[in-house]
Amino acid sequence: MEKTRENIPEKGAAVQKDMENYAIIPYIPGGLLDPVTLRKLADVAEKYQVKHLKVTSEHRIGFYGIREDQIGPILEELEMEPGGFTGKCVRGVKFCIGNTSCKKAYQNTLELGLKIDENFHKTPTPDKVKISLSGCPNSCAESKVRDIGIIGTPKGWRYLVGGTCGLQVKEGKVLAKNLSDEEVLDLTTEILDYYKKIDFKKRLGYLIENEGFETFKEEVLKK
Ligand code: SF4
Repeated sequence: MEKTRENIPEKGAAVQKDMENYAIIPYIPGGLLDPVTLRKLADVAEKYQVKHLKVTSEHRIGFYGIREDQIGPILEELEMEPGGFTGKCVRGVKFCIGNTSCKKAYQNTLELGLKIDENFHKTPTPDKVKISLSGCPNSCAESKVRDIGIIGTPKGWRYLVGGTCGLQVKEGKVLAKNLSDEEVLDLTTEILDYYKKIDFKKRLGYLIENEGFETFKEEVLKK
């Protein structure tokens, strides 16, 4: 068989090293699971003899080494949309357990994280946007190195932009402090609208570098 396959972003599938099989990451908002869903994931993986099941760095469960004709049926049986390798858009929001469980947390990451995910997941953007929330400055969800990082403090949320943990690790810059949940949602809308309007075809951090942080800040905070 000729090995010329490519990623299929509309199916959320990435071609593997053998250039023949694929990986998919079913969409599980916030990586929050219950026993029924977990069992379903296991049953479907077993039925399709999925080569590797792997918990990803974004708190999802990836199915690796599947055939192209298995992508649709697997997602259908799971009753889930694709949640990874989805191209240029807002990716699934990552968050730590926050104050529903962690004694160090200042804020409720689950509630706000799910709201952000519901409002913005898969919003088309000039390049991919990764958003992460941590309930306190320990930043267990690596919020300091995401395009948008939201961190709980005693007085509200600290909002960082332009971080990355790729080839060049860069900490996000503090755009605003002491925000409420509503203010975080509004600011996220402003930033994504501005990013789309400028249509700068690189990650948010590069846009900020290109414009200068103060100019970017002025633009997104002016309302
Ligand atoms: S970031 Fe803070 S609140 Fe979240 S799990 Fe880590 S220690 Fe707990």
